[in-house]
Amino acid sequence: MQSALYLSNVTKWFVSLGNPADKSVAVDGVTLDVGETEFMAMVGPSGCGKSTLLRLIAGLEEPSAGKIYVGGRKVDGIPTRARNIGFMFQGYALFKHMSVVNNIAFGLKIRRVPKKERQRRIEELISLMGLEGLENRIPDQLSGGQQQRVGLARALAPKPSLLLLDEPFGAVDAKVRQKLRADTKRWQRELKIPTILVTHDQCEALELGDRVAVMNNGRFEQIDTPRNAYDRPASEFVARFIGRVNVFRTTFDRTSGRLFRRRQFEIMIRPEDIAIHSWNNGRPLPDRHVLGTIVNSAFLGHTVRFEVRLKKNGDLVTVSLPKHEAFASDLNPGREVSLALGDCQVFPV
Ligand code: ATP
Repeated sequence: MQSALYLSNVTKWFVSLGNPADKSVAVDGVTLDVGETEFMAMVGPSGCGKSTLLRLIAGLEEPSAGKIYVGGRKVDGIPTRARNIGFMFQGYALFKHMSVVNNIAFGLKIRRVPKKERQRRIEELISLMGLEGLENRIPDQLSGGQQQRVGLARALAPKPSLLLLDEPFGAVDAKVRQKLRADTKRWQRELKIPTILVTHDQCEALELGDRVAVMNNGRFEQIDTPRNAYDRPASEFVARFIGRVNVFRTTFDRTSGRLFRRRQFEIMIRPEDIAIHSWNNGRPLPDRHVLGTIVNSAFLGHTVRFEVRLKKNGDLVTVSLPKHEAFASDLNPGREVSLALGDCQVFPV
């Protein structure tokens, strides 16, 4: 199977204007393969190099080293407009004085698509994005969510061979964002267009990506299915960045069962992988359980999150339970509880 995008050892550094010897590396030897119909979600903290990488793929920046292939074709030196890439970047606004229809038509007119075909394509996209009735409005007469949809339609209009989205739902409220995400996943599946979406929001990455690429300091720490990134994080950084996690230090290596006197490990465990039970003073504590007291609880809709202070060292542990289990129990702040660790990850320190 041909890949939609292949990056081979791509690096980008920026040189400080005042001091040419001062180089900052934004993208550091990145290799990535994106499948023909794949939705790749790229996630990482602010400044890790996500946007720079997208700009390199789009041709808005040239790599300092490495090769970029789009649809099997090497694109080094090929200008953005000849790469057949659709993109919607941060701050990349709609044409303010143009109607919805003209915004969507823009890329088609530049490519001299015949009028009839153009109209058919615009109608398709208006329906796909749910923009019926808004065709003649200008961007100022649209809500934030509607503007995002027009932006997506405009990027999709010329049938690009790759779509790049940089924080596409950034400027809208949480509810609209949720709807846009679900719609984006649906039409991406329908159109089968290879897509790379950049976000700093790990929930968005897990929800949308066929795979997620977790970036840190210009490199990928893990490129994997959302489930593996969450359940089998490749590094401490991924475990901490994707989802909530409890971290304990220990000298015990769980994988080999051997004791290392001088080597320390960090055990990471998700809040939902800890069993929590009320404990009545006087009852024997089961093997491998630890005692604590609930100091806080928060209702989060589908789950309830508890904070438990451990008796033996005062550490705070976060535990989450599905709401029906939490409400059927007597788990409340002040309650003494026993905790048992389930599935966890171990990383050397
Ligand atoms: P955010 O999520 O905040 O947008 P990001 O992960 O997209 O962050 P980039 O915008 O790619 O990060 O920036 C990566 C690094 O490269 C940062 O340290 C940034 O300051 C630096 N950088 C980006 N563009 C330039 C430039 N034109 N000149 C110098 N440094 C730059």
